[in-house]
Amino acid sequence: NETISKNFIEQEIDKDLAEGVYDHVSTRFPPEPNGYLHIGHAKSILLNYGLAQKYNGTFHMRFDDTNPTKEKVEFVDSIKDDIQWLGADWKDHLYFASDYFEQMYEFALKLIKKGKAYVCDLSPEEIREYRGTLTEVGKDSPYRNRSVEENLELFQAMKDGKYKDGEKVLRAKIDMASPNINMRDPIIYRVAHISHHNTGDKWCIYPMYDYAHPLEDAIEGITHSICTLEFEDHRPLYDWVVKECEFEQPPRQIEFAKLYLTNVVTGKRYIKKLVEDNIVDGWDDPRLVSIAALRRRGFTPESIKMFIDLCGVSKSQSSVDYAMLEYCIREDLKMKKARMMAVLDPIKLVIDNYPEGQVEYLDVANNLENEELGSRKVPFCRELYIEREDFMEEPPKKYFRLFPGNEVRLMHAYFVKCESFVKDENGNVTEVHCTYDPETKCGGGFTGRKVKGTIHWVPAPYAVKAEVRLYENLVDEEKGVYNKEDGSLNLNPNSLTVLKDCYVEPSFDGAEPTDSFQFVRNGYFCIDAKDSSPDALVFNRIVSLKSSFKL
Ligand code: ATP
Ligand code: MG
Ligand code: MG
Repeated sequence: NETISKNFIEQEIDKDLAEGVYDHVSTRFPPEPNGYLHIGHAKSILLNYGLAQKYNGTFHMRFDDTNPTKEKVEFVDSIKDDIQWLGADWKDHLYFASDYFEQMYEFALKLIKKGKAYVCDLSPEEIREYRGTLTEVGKDSPYRNRSVEENLELFQAMKDGKYKDGEKVLRAKIDMASPNINMRDPIIYRVAHISHHNTGDKWCIYPMYDYAHPLEDAIEGITHSICTLEFEDHRPLYDWVVKECEFEQPPRQIEFAKLYLTNVVTGKRYIKKLVEDNIVDGWDDPRLVSIAALRRRGFTPESIKMFIDLCGVSKSQSSVDYAMLEYCIREDLKMKKARMMAVLDPIKLVIDNYPEGQVEYLDVANNLENEELGSRKVPFCRELYIEREDFMEEPPKKYFRLFPGNEVRLMHAYFVKCESFVKDENGNVTEVHCTYDPETKCGGGFTGRKVKGTIHWVPAPYAVKAEVRLYENLVDEEKGVYNKEDGSLNLNPNSLTVLKDCYVEPSFDGAEPTDSFQFVRNGYFCIDAKDSSPDALVFNRIVSLKSSFKL
């Protein structure tokens, strides 16, 4: 049954279309350009874009820039870039709410003429006082019954710059006794002598969000204005504005629950502090969940889409485990990416019976589960690097890797048997020696005996040195996200591990920033877009291979 698999918003839209309330669907994503987008915004973007696609409608990208503040322009480009990356195509539907200032002003005049708005001289404190509380009705402003003429004159004077900030406001005339405080004659225009990034000094009155937003939607012909739950109480005002402004086919607001993730820092205030205190490397630090950070970390648009789909759309607030996001990126990369060999903590392995100076080029499949990815040649020779943890002088039970006398398979190559090892004066193992058996070459059909362990390696003379960055979550829900004493973040001291002396195969020629790979046994990694260069590769671990998360 199709309706059952539809989310509640789709069911509402179906109803509207069936009843003829609308004959098409038009949605929008309306960010305020005041910061970077994060994973929560991705939910709103993909939801709105997905609905427009499903109903063959239009998707509008609109900057809600009605509140002039300084930092705005720089965010417009990053927001556009992130939305494009996510694959939400607004085609030629790119809008700026500030382009509607003139129309919004005209609508305010209309409301005044209808006796539905008035200029009020109460101070901000008085307005708050008069508004009342949940248990106490509000009091009418002494300016509430000004004549239309007087209101028109005063509003004109507000617009002409005759008043200082806060001296006068325009208010909707609704109901000071409404049980919904938002309906107690809300302010719809304020005086603010601030330059706007788009309109400069043209205006010194600016519309308030609750007045501007429904108008923006209505002017653009949006049908379903989808927003988050905190606006539920504002819906009567939304409806009031579009009704009193007499739109023929007014838009309809529908609310859904915000997306929250556990074990990540989402509060803008906290992220700002982490950036300022240099605890993270900017707004795109791979440990954050801004879209820019997720991109740098190596997440793909497909993985974000899968994640958002799995989260679903609902009216009840809940948190989703970060592990589910990790599950999605693993699923996405599994079949798509080459499986390379990289040694993160190297120790030298010398094959004593392999001729010095000899090299053979092994043909290695890029992804055994996906033949389409082809194969590559990996040089094999006498001296290799292996992971330090793949050798133990005195192995515990069930350790099947290298230890004196034990034989393992070198991935894609031969069986080798550990013969001896070398220690430095501090007792650290510096070299492991082994012998190989030419009969056991991978793909040669050898069945004479079996080994229990397979380890990866890179050929020492051909390997490329690289930096590898490993990440853990910045905070841990179980340990407490905030410190009890001062409310600051309880940061995980191990959220970043930088390994400077890793070695990767020589096959990364031509790899570009953000390209990603599996490093066998170690996880999925991508080339860091900020710090990597062709002759000094830097990799970010996107995610490890194993997870406790099960769908
Ligand atoms: P933040 O304060 O986290 O930046 P915001 O509400 O200020 O969020 P806006 O730029 O005003 O962000 O919002 C753009 C759109 O994204 C809005 O429709 C808003 O409801 C939606 N949005 C913001 N955060 C989330 C979230 N966590 N989950 C789903 N949608 C969200
Ligand atoms: Mg915002
Ligand atoms: Mg906001």
